[in-house]
Amino acid sequence: MIYLRPHHILCIQQFKGYGYDDEFVKNMFNILDRINKEQIIIKRDFDNICEKCPNLINSVCTVDNEVNLLDNKVLELLNIKLNKPMYFNEIKFYLAENLTEDTFFYICSSCSWYKKGFCSYKNFILK
Ligand code: SF4
Repeated sequence: MIYLRPHHILCIQQFKGYGYDDEFVKNMFNILDRINKEQIIIKRDFDNICEKCPNLINSVCTVDNEVNLLDNKVLELLNIKLNKPMYFNEIKFYLAENLTEDTFFYICSSCSWYKKGFCSYKNFILK
């Protein structure tokens, strides 16, 4: 089972091998390798990506205010259900139904990774 906080269902498809440090990147590749094989639970707070992130201190993200805003936007706009085991194909269904270029911009444009140019609507595989 993979646990992801809401906005990470978008980050996971935008990952290009860059991250906060080597351990973070290695963990992202590991999760990507499992993402189509295991069920996923979308949950609040820290997840399997956060657990290898240098920004996670005592189980709390040091930029929690910013990332909670992203999580709230994803839950509000993409109609994603929390705490329900789903395969990534089911999650992609919610993205295909609800993620437009405008929605993507509204959710992601305040994120530092987006501002650095790593993320684009074209990168999503929605079907
Ligand atoms: S910055 Fe925060 S939300 Fe993002 S991976 Fe690190 S701990 Fe998780």
